[in-house]
Amino acid sequence: GAAGDENDVVVIGGGPGGYVAAIKAAQLGLKTTCIEKRGSLGGTCLNVGCIPSKALLHSSHMYHEAKHAFPSHGVKFAQLEIDLPAMLAQKDKAVSGLTRGIEGLFKKNKVNYVKGSGKFISPSEVSVDTLDGGNTVVKGKNIIIATGSDVKSLPGITIDEKKIVSSTGALSLSAIPKKLVVIGAGYIGLEMGSVWGRLGSEITVVEFAPDIVPSMDGEVRKQFQRMLEKQKMKFMLKTKVVGVDTSGDGVKLIVEPAAGGEQSTLEADVVLVSAGRIPYTAGLGLETIGVQTDKAGRITVDKHFKTNAPGVYAIGDVIPGPMLAHKAEEDGVACVEFIAGKEGHVDYDMVPGVVYTHPEVASVGKTEEQVKSLGVAYRVGKFPFMANSRAKAIDDADGLVKILAEKETDKILGVHIMSPNAGELIHEAVLALQYGASSEDIARTCHAHPTMSEAVKEAAMATYDKPIHI
Ligand code: FAD
Repeated sequence: GAAGDENDVVVIGGGPGGYVAAIKAAQLGLKTTCIEKRGSLGGTCLNVGCIPSKALLHSSHMYHEAKHAFPSHGVKFAQLEIDLPAMLAQKDKAVSGLTRGIEGLFKKNKVNYVKGSGKFISPSEVSVDTLDGGNTVVKGKNIIIATGSDVKSLPGITIDEKKIVSSTGALSLSAIPKKLVVIGAGYIGLEMGSVWGRLGSEITVVEFAPDIVPSMDGEVRKQFQRMLEKQKMKFMLKTKVVGVDTSGDGVKLIVEPAAGGEQSTLEADVVLVSAGRIPYTAGLGLETIGVQTDKAGRITVDKHFKTNAPGVYAIGDVIPGPMLAHKAEEDGVACVEFIAGKEGHVDYDMVPGVVYTHPEVASVGKTEEQVKSLGVAYRVGKFPFMANSRAKAIDDADGLVKILAEKETDKILGVHIMSPNAGELIHEAVLALQYGASSEDIARTCHAHPTMSEAVKEAAMATYDKPIHI
């Protein structure tokens, strides 16, 4: 129908939170409109996040493997080169194909798609400046804010997306930098650092905190950092960036110890600022309808994703919780189920997190540090991929599985996996956690041989008993 007709649900933002909410709403029989200003669907994740980064991670991994792993597998060739424009084009093709795919899903499910920038004029009306230069008012009984997040800059640093780039610029560099300095050792910085490091850049990661990826289990993190250092990634932890000079050819970054002290200069061709993301609500007119936000600028919601404004909901990166695409999707489905009068449920403690480096690190549930601080008596079961036959067969055996279980009941509290494909392996652990399984439940589940998944089974055995293969 026309955008002026009243909708049951209007979604502002077409990212993984918004587009999934819109499709689900339509599937539940609600008349739905989705407003997106980017000109393409899929949000940060599909356009400048998850998908293009994974495309480049895969391309750069293939090059790295061809260079460093193929010879030992007896695969040799005369010449190996990088065709960067072709690499970037394959990434762009993946993105545009998937974006069009979501448009197709909108058509199939009869979601009305309005291309433009939305702004509240009342809790049930959104004024949209459309991309073709017009304006239209979209009305809805329920409005879901799914406007996501944006890159966070640092004081005194201006992102020009050429010499000083955000993750967006780092996904489209026109040349391989000789020296790349990454500010921030979160997963985005490490992933993009890995991409360019594999293609030949010298990578230095500057991090204010004492640790990389602070949310990671400490023991796994230590091994992970060692792996990255083996790949020649350099780390300057507890280090603060205090100034930047872009007047010359490259960039001079002035740093000092986080606790204060002597300054030093880091030279780089390109600097990637990956110091976190902030909720994005600019121009949305939240003040017009009085929607509350917290100190970090995130929209405050109750457990049904309701804001304080009547009929206005919020989901995804713009509300508190892990800033991840799959979490945004879960929010979207649950929110719409509430609107449709059903029950929806998202448990943020069971959202898996994955760092898509090589090896990957995937985890769900609690870290050992968190379990300790809860004061629960627990057991740890570990199994190294060095003792896993499939990992040895493919000669890619760095990493481990670590399972934490409550001592008295054997109930699984957390699972941490570092391995190639850890992001796929983690899901049996997510399911186990979701169903309140014990480590013995996993250990007594038949796992196919030879697979990397057997390491999960063996770690589970090690949690309450002994593993077989070590
Ligand atoms: P977004 O995806 O940010 O979408 C919000 C959309 O709303 C945007 O398209 C925006 O244009 C639109 N919008 C905003 N305001 C308006 C308005 N007023 N009117 C109309 N439209 C508006 N997460 C993972 O789970 N796995 C990964 O591997 C991963 N990798 C990432 C890599 C990078 C480099 C980055 C930057 C992020 C990555 N993320 C990853 C995070 C992931 O992208 C986000 O968690 C996810 O996109 C959040 O979804 P969302 O729907 O809440 O918001």
